[in-house]
Amino acid sequence: MYLIKGAQVFSPVFLGQKDVLIAGSKIVAMAEPDSMSVDGASMYEIDGSGKILMPGLVDSLVHIIGGGGEGGYTTRTPEMHLSDAVCAGVTTLVGVLGTDSITRTLTNLLAKASALQEEGVTVYCHTGSYQVPARTLLDGIDQDLLLIEKFIGVGEVAISDHRSSQPTRQELARLASQARVGGMLSGKAGIVSVHVGDSETCLQPILDVVSATDIPIRQFYPTHINRSQPLLDAGKGYAQLGGYLDLTASTTPEILAAGEVKCATALSELLASGVPASQISLSSDGFASLPDFDEQGNLRGLKVGDLASLLNEMRDAVFIEGVALEDAIRVVTQSPADILKLHNKGRVCVGSDADVLLLDESTLTLETVFARGALMMRDKRLLKAGVFEQDKLS
Ligand code: ZN
Repeated sequence: MYLIKGAQVFSPVFLGQKDVLIAGSKIVAMAEPDSMSVDGASMYEIDGSGKILMPGLVDSLVHIIGGGGEGGYTTRTPEMHLSDAVCAGVTTLVGVLGTDSITRTLTNLLAKASALQEEGVTVYCHTGSYQVPARTLLDGIDQDLLLIEKFIGVGEVAISDHRSSQPTRQELARLASQARVGGMLSGKAGIVSVHVGDSETCLQPILDVVSATDIPIRQFYPTHINRSQPLLDAGKGYAQLGGYLDLTASTTPEILAAGEVKCATALSELLASGVPASQISLSSDGFASLPDFDEQGNLRGLKVGDLASLLNEMRDAVFIEGVALEDAIRVVTQSPADILKLHNKGRVCVGSDADVLLLDESTLTLETVFARGALMMRDKRLLKAGVFEQDKLS
């Protein structure tokens, strides 16, 4: 058991100074400072004064087994390790495939998700990939959702992109209906994670499905909305219809120079235009290749998405863009958890999973990480690393 004393608690709603008690994998009590006393040799006290206590980050899009490969075999990105999540404050992740669903497989994805889960963080996956019809493990998206515990949705399905399989309205509608029914039958989100590319059609393929069918706009979870100003502007209208928007935190100077809107800036712009924080999330697109194409579509170079970009953009949103801390925290915790129907995640309350971060109050630097009640990092010192990265433990 851990008693974290006197931190400023953001649930993400600001609750003031509280003591927070963790037992096993859960938060079991929260109370006014010094009002709880717990006896027992297995109780550890942690001083939370001068710290912000917030939920562990929920990252809705991570290429946990690597991705990329768009410039040939040597450009396939490496897979992630536990410390990539812990050092970034990410305690819940959704693993996905991307462009390549031939050499990257759903079986490999599930095995990696199970490994990370055993090592201490919580991992879900989406079935499918960029392709439509979706490549699934069993006989369809609905079967994958209903029969395989870790699958909570499908994607990232690519639209408005030269790498997309250019699905027709009917194909996209069929895919979403399978995800919807599979989600209903399994009590999961059945969300359709949608990779939105550079083309001028922006979010129109989703809107076409929504207007032609009874599938609600909230079945879809489009990402990379900050990849250009026109797409971000289209996102504002899309959100007015009730839709969710996911912004990508990982970037490079070249990508920003080519017209991407910095994630923190895009967040501030969406909030200022009246989009509620509950409809916005940030994801890292971790371990994706960050491709740099020239005007002829030739690949010039590659970098790899970084989970730490989430906390960096949360911080920049507060310190550079003047976004309220509650909102900046919500879009990396409760919003993605709610969209993905992960009701024990992304919040600090009695009964929720003890995924908890402590940050320095003035700099928002990450210091301490709990994942499902286990202390993974303490005062910036990594305490738990993956099986093949034990050298990272000092
Ligand atoms: Zn993508």
